[in-house]
Amino acid sequence: MKFRHQNFSSSRAMVCALLVLSLTVLFVRLGAAIPADVPAKPVHGIAVDHIDRSVQPGDDFYHYANGAWIKKTVIPPDRAAVGVFTALSDLTNKRTAALIEEAANAKAPAGSSTAKIADLYNSYMDEAGIEAKGLKPLKPHLDAIAAIKDKHELAHALGETLRADVDALNNTHFHTPNLFGLWVAPGFNDSEHYAAYLLQGGIELPDREYYLSDAASMRDARTKYVAHVAAMLKLAGFTDIDARAKRIFDLEHAIAEKHTTLADNDDIHKANNTWTQADFNAKAPGLEWAEYFRGAGLSQQKEFTVWQPTAFSAESALVASEPLETWKDWLAYHMIEDHADALPKALSDESFAFFGKTLSGTPQRRPRWQRGVFVVDRWLGDAVGKIYAERYFPPEAKAKGQEMVANITAAFRKRIEALDWMAPATKAEAQAKLSALYVGIGYPEHWHDYSAFEVKAGDMFGNLWRGRLFEYHREVGRLGTQVDRKEWSMSPQTVNAVNLPLQNALNFPAAILQPPFFDPKAPAAVNYGAIGTVIGHEISHTFDSEGSAFDSQGRVRNWWTESDLEHFNAATAKLAAQYDTYKPFPDLSINGKQTLAENIADVAGIAASYDGYRASLGGKPAPEQQGFTTDQQLFLAFAQDYGSKMRDAALRAQVMGDSHSPGQYRADTVRNIDAWYSAFNVKPGQKLYLAPPDRVRIW
Ligand SMILES: [Zn+2]
Repeated sequence: MKFRHQNFSSSRAMVCALLVLSLTVLFVRLGAAIPADVPAKPVHGIAVDHIDRSVQPGDDFYHYANGAWIKKTVIPPDRAAVGVFTALSDLTNKRTAALIEEAANAKAPAGSSTAKIADLYNSYMDEAGIEAKGLKPLKPHLDAIAAIKDKHELAHALGETLRADVDALNNTHFHTPNLFGLWVAPGFNDSEHYAAYLLQGGIELPDREYYLSDAASMRDARTKYVAHVAAMLKLAGFTDIDARAKRIFDLEHAIAEKHTTLADNDDIHKANNTWTQADFNAKAPGLEWAEYFRGAGLSQQKEFTVWQPTAFSAESALVASEPLETWKDWLAYHMIEDHADALPKALSDESFAFFGKTLSGTPQRRPRWQRGVFVVDRWLGDAVGKIYAERYFPPEAKAKGQEMVANITAAFRKRIEALDWMAPATKAEAQAKLSALYVGIGYPEHWHDYSAFEVKAGDMFGNLWRGRLFEYHREVGRLGTQVDRKEWSMSPQTVNAVNLPLQNALNFPAAILQPPFFDPKAPAAVNYGAIGTVIGHEISHTFDSEGSAFDSQGRVRNWWTESDLEHFNAATAKLAAQYDTYKPFPDLSINGKQTLAENIADVAGIAASYDGYRASLGGKPAPEQQGFTTDQQLFLAFAQDYGSKMRDAALRAQVMGDSHSPGQYRADTVRNIDAWYSAFNVKPGQKLYLAPPDRVRIW
């Protein structure tokens, strides 16, 4: 699970889960991921000028830590949100852009990674060329859909749309517009080999709630969505567009009704369903599965893990019950929408007008060069990342990062040892898990090989098409092979971090190990508050409701006793109830269950990082800096990780579709930590005050 933060990163997933999937689709499509130009922290330490001293820390810690910054910050028109760490993302993107430009000027030999970077970027930047081709690149695909004669051929065509575009546990991307999505990862029941996980899909809007919620904003979004579908069809040369759009929407609505909720998707026990190809016919009749798998190139694959069986049964039944023509319209619209960024401006702009302006409230698109950087990062991430890491991640930063990880891991060990509720045998398993944990710092041990990805100059549509297929074939090619626990799931230039539960591994990319998260020149308290809490957050996922389902080798094995589980469930239910009380909008509360794993990780992350910091002092006193005690600096640095401004539509999208709480509530979780009360002299009667028994203590 990613750590991160909201929708700021260039991939949608941010730190373990920082980012969210549904937003990922939204923001990647819109290119809304690059943060705005906001000055970096001016000094090596907390950003004192972001503090609003008119707010009492005990009443509203988030606004105390970030209020002055929030007051003076305006969200640029091409962004859905900005954060105080935006400068870091901007810096990373500028560096990446410069690397890409160098590649573009290098005249590298054809077929080399450098030439691919250049050709992909230039093909995206060639607006005149894209315009001149018009709808031509789309035509063979739309013709193939139009030629589908019956449900047998439909099954094959649906199979051909399967891509490796979802990720249930690492980057937590649960959204695919295709009927289903493939995720290749270590098996639930054989963690030594890669297995095929299939996830529900079929809707373009980010989550089922967009189709089902009664909220006025969602009803409005639906009306505008139907108009948008019609507009896209018209631009692609279709007739009878309103009737088609209505049918496409109705089909997606029927699919959404049967989708499993985001909160339920987190439960791996509900997801651990092994189906043979014969099981699909028996348990999910309707779709001709043998033909579907033939289309997907998976006829030889004997077993799949079906994440949401009820959705598979329902979606398969809809393939049988709904008219062929409706499915063909649905396929055509999805084909157009999912390639809009590689099509002429009219289509690309219409797509942004709905997904960018309407759904996330962003008035303007990012400049094209920034979107070009996203495209290259997305499809050639490791090729760029290798150069990025060589140039921007010195060995000293790696060593310092490893030292912090060691201190925080040691703090976790002590906390586990001291727990009075956990059985000794369970503690031993937890310690074994810590011992076997692989922590990747900066960049992977080896890099993806792009030699089979054909990138052609002047063919953006083809490059996008082949990029998706290349990734799909790479993932399918791994099925059944030996698991590499040191495989990374984020590129070095990603401002995020991630926990990989099936590998018992963490990744901290080079790009997050920079100020304001990590600054070798800053006081230790600030580094422990900023990046240390993120490290603690990721480690905590190793033991949380999801992590407790996997042992030290990544096997699905419940290593907790009944009473361990009872205590954990009781403690975490209290945290879910605490978050249920937060209301970002009068008609929309935080969903404590949906965000529980991330909220637990935040509390645990601060607790462990705080201990790791105290231990790093080795008993020596630490001086005040910038007018704050070291404890105050640590908590302020933590809260400043989450300082952000979001447009209402984007905030709503996050609350509904993300497993991370909005930044404000993440920062305010300091109310569960005793040391915060003494650091800021927080008293009963203040708004964030919790009596000691009401503070949630898990680890
Ligand atoms: Zn997380």
